[in-house]
Amino acid sequence: MALVSAKDMLEKAKAGHYAVGQFNINNLEWTKSVLTTAQELNSPVILGVSEGAGKYMTGYKTVAAMTEAMIEELGITVPVALHLDHGGYEGCKKCIEAGFSSIMFDGSHLPFDENVAKTTELVALTKKKGLSIEAEVGSIGGEEDGVVGAGEIADPQECKKISDLGVTMLAAGIGNIHGVYPENWKGLDFGALDKIQALTGDRPLVLHGGTGIPDDMIKKAIGLGVSKINVNTECQLSFAAATREYIEAGKDKQGKGFDPRKLLAPGAEAIKNTVKEKMELFGSVGKA
Ligand SMILES: [Zn+2]
Repeated sequence: MALVSAKDMLEKAKAGHYAVGQFNINNLEWTKSVLTTAQELNSPVILGVSEGAGKYMTGYKTVAAMTEAMIEELGITVPVALHLDHGGYEGCKKCIEAGFSSIMFDGSHLPFDENVAKTTELVALTKKKGLSIEAEVGSIGGEEDGVVGAGEIADPQECKKISDLGVTMLAAGIGNIHGVYPENWKGLDFGALDKIQALTGDRPLVLHGGTGIPDDMIKKAIGLGVSKINVNTECQLSFAAATREYIEAGKDKQGKGFDPRKLLAPGAEAIKNTVKEKMELFGSVGKA
């Protein structure tokens, strides 16, 4: 199955009160782990690619070609969207050209009018090509690929304005942040989420910074209209921990344990476990 827009899977999720996970990828192992887990669990999935990760993988064309080919070679039949995460205006255009099936235009740091203007233009472009587009209001806190956000609470009226432009899904800051949550984090602002949901209706809402949000808060957010949840840091942490364990146990020095296919295997397996846990929590298992 070729890459698909995230529109159908997210509208189904919103109507069915579950969420589809976006798992950010960094390389071949990451992509393979996420795709095979989605297939095993019969779950739709969104592969997220930040601009930094795109550059790391030598460019968006490489990422799109690798993902398309991997879907074919692995016989993946569940719906897979390849999505630019926190794209700038130029990045969005490049990904559309490279064959991504979904983009996020993050204009949250721009003056609101400019966010509206650029989002409008990109909505028209994605509609013409049958791609999905995510927009953002209220920056997400924390740091991701050098983009630092303060963790604002989005203005519900601004959310409605951006949603009404015809975006596929909307990311709205509700106190969530990227990376690991600090000890004194106040939690998600469900009052704000409720107001945003009331004004944006059936529009699928996106929760960024899914790592470290307690399970009950995730479930409550899904109940209040969140139908896409982004997970990035958690896969990185589980990959690193499993790799550390392998090396600290001296396994790379036993036999051919230094073989990269062996060295990277525990990390790849750890990503699979994290993805599985999240898909079960989000309720997307069996929904492909
Ligand atoms: Zn994000």
